[in-house]
Amino acid sequence: MPPADTSSIQLIRDFYARRLQGDRPVISFEFFTPKTDEGDKKLMEVTLPELLQLAPDYVSVTYGAGGSTRAKTLTLVEAIQRRYGLTAMAHLTCVGHMEDDIAEILSEAKTLGIRNILALRGDPPAGQTEFVKPKGGFEYSYQLIEFIRRHGDFCIGTAGFPEGHMACREGKLADWGYLKQKIDMGAEFVLTQLFFDNSEFFEFRDHVVQRLGVTVPICPGVLPILSAKQVVRFTKLCGARIPAPVRARLELLTDDEEGATEFGIEHATKQCEELVREGVPGLHLYCLNKVRSARAILKNLGLAGR
Ligand SMILES: Cc1cc2nc3c(=O)[nH]c(=O)nc-3n(C[C@H](O)[C@H](O)[C@H](O)COP(=O)(O)OP(=O)(O)OC[C@H]3O[C@@H](n4cnc5c(N)ncnc54)[C@H](O)[C@@H]3O)c2cc1C
Repeated sequence: MPPADTSSIQLIRDFYARRLQGDRPVISFEFFTPKTDEGDKKLMEVTLPELLQLAPDYVSVTYGAGGSTRAKTLTLVEAIQRRYGLTAMAHLTCVGHMEDDIAEILSEAKTLGIRNILALRGDPPAGQTEFVKPKGGFEYSYQLIEFIRRHGDFCIGTAGFPEGHMACREGKLADWGYLKQKIDMGAEFVLTQLFFDNSEFFEFRDHVVQRLGVTVPICPGVLPILSAKQVVRFTKLCGARIPAPVRARLELLTDDEEGATEFGIEHATKQCEELVREGVPGLHLYCLNKVRSARAILKNLGLAGR
């Protein structure tokens, strides 16, 4: 395959650098890879064109547990960039991969014109509760970051956890210390795990900036709640806390998806308003391949379109 034309594709660090010079917050949406061809078609032909009207700076595409979506993640990122000229970032995880696999994936990504990678350890595959270091692979994402830095000219992002990573037995301060190590290894920006209480984000940001000397952009990840049951499931998986007032509202909306979505828009709008006021570099919306909440939130913020 000939190399893709990447002339309109930018490095994500440059978006955040422009924000520092007074541009609007960097807006990004995260997609998961659909499981069916129909889902792919809907994402490419319906969801993306609608989201593009909101003028996101970039989108990112997840990497399924166990490397199951390897081909799909790269294909989707390439298709988004080629068809819409929109910068898209591929997530990449350590799960199930030897170093040679990673080298191959990076070479494939380069050929496809992919310039931005979110380097992660990855969620354990279905049926496993703990991450198992693959033979000949990596135990921690800082090793993947270091490997990517040596093997290609990519802009690399990393994950940050405002409440601390749930597997970090030494507590959140230790986990935040490991974030510094990931940055020292070459990560150029941080996207955070979802959280519902902004004070968690501010404490995390203040610690890593003021105490640890982190200077790369730290961009909050915000989940617009779509259903009460779904958010309980997600937070169990990622360890984020649901504050009591949010939990109380959700309990009233257990079987009311419409009501939960409206509440999700209201809560995420309030979160984002304060985050922007406090000078975050951008907003990374976990839009779950849906348009409605992202559009409503950005309209409420006056950030829908340029
Ligand atoms: C924005 C975002 C996007 C994501 N996208 C995906 C995706 O596409 N696919 C997917 O499978 N998962 C995804 N995840 C989830 C993520 O892969 C998991 O939360 C994973 O368990 C942690 O990933 P990490 O890269 O932070 O791992 P690491 O940085 O390797 O950390 C894993 C654990 O090891 C600890 N640790 C780190 N370094 C050290 C060290 N040197 N010594 C001892 N302990 C250490 C950390 O405290 C943590 O508990 C995403 C998360 C976020 C925030």
